[in-house]
Amino acid sequence: MAYDITLIPGDGTGPEIAEATRRVLEATGIQFRWHLAEAGLAVYEREGTVLPERVLESIRATKVALKGPITTPIGRGFRSANVALRKSLDLYANLRPAKSYPGLRSRYTDIDLIIVRENTEDLYAGIEFQRGTPELDELIDWIDLRNGTHLSHDAAISIKFISTPASRRIAKFAFEYAVANNRRKVTAVHKANIMRMSDGLFLSVTQEVAKEYPQIQFEDRIVDNMCMQLAQKPEQYDVLVLPNLYGDIISDLSAGLIGGLGVAPGANIGHEYAVFEPVHGSAPKHAGHNKVNPMAMMFSGALMLRHLGERDAADRLDAALSAIIAEGKYVTYDLKPTPDDKTAVGTSQVADAVIARLKG
Ligand code: NAD
Repeated sequence: MAYDITLIPGDGTGPEIAEATRRVLEATGIQFRWHLAEAGLAVYEREGTVLPERVLESIRATKVALKGPITTPIGRGFRSANVALRKSLDLYANLRPAKSYPGLRSRYTDIDLIIVRENTEDLYAGIEFQRGTPELDELIDWIDLRNGTHLSHDAAISIKFISTPASRRIAKFAFEYAVANNRRKVTAVHKANIMRMSDGLFLSVTQEVAKEYPQIQFEDRIVDNMCMQLAQKPEQYDVLVLPNLYGDIISDLSAGLIGGLGVAPGANIGHEYAVFEPVHGSAPKHAGHNKVNPMAMMFSGALMLRHLGERDAADRLDAALSAIIAEGKYVTYDLKPTPDDKTAVGTSQVADAVIARLKG
């Protein structure tokens, strides 16, 4: 049986790492029918949109996409393709594993974290009021009237929106993931001691959901304490579930803990669709140079294999990548002791080495 997968190469270095990842996935022996869907800067130049509707249609048909990074130029007035994808397909869970591999330069050796970030609301819901607008003035007057809080009109407001349904579905996602992947503990991260309403709601809903999963340990941490704990004893944590903003920050922190973006995979998952992509961006300065590390996208491909139920192939791909990192020979500049190391290989040579391992 062949899996229908939408392949979005993206732009910048995206097409190079996407091609390397496609080759490696095929070398696992799993069959794919790739549905190529172009998105990104070149499409924008031609069609005036970075994310044409046909890309969404393709994912609606295949249900699963493997995606390279897409550039979001600052100040050109268009919406990020990544945000648009997440919103249009209701990809409410952002899954970002952060795992130590022998051979990666990092201060830590035994990290194995799964970050589950809520992807649709919180301060990222886009409910914002600009300074000097009548809407802002009206809102400030209303707050004064209702809440008795006098705020300066020389201000801007972003609203932190946290709902029960979104908190429940992300908490359930975290626990279901823990059960399906033999994880032992879920930690909810929040600031409910200060934001008693919004983060308080997130925490209480998560606590309720935790009761449905007695086999999984549950605890909560205040986000500032969590940062310190992750710097001091990250090995004590397992699955973390967080609202959008804290999730964004903690997942980058966790990528840093394991040795960088070059090996950090990600997935955006909803009830119907799932998009697998590296955490890093399009690194445009390296585009076309066969230089950047394709492993983050390859690890994202392994996550996709797990999502498809192809555990054995995913394990083999993870093992091949891990062996190549440990050996340190066929790796790109970012995994060498110094970035100008002459022994660094290119993107496609990493793919060749992974394929040789898979087939050897
Ligand atoms: P970036 O992740 O592209 O680059 C940050 C640094 O990491 C750079 O020094 C880059 O060279 C290096 N780097 C990134 N990927 C690498 C890899 N695979 N191997 C080796 N080194 C790598 O972040 P940025 O420069 O802030 O963003 C560039 C563009 O990408 C922006 O337009 C941004 O909006 C976009 N972006 C897209 C996504 C996505 O598509 N999901 C995610 C993040 C950023």
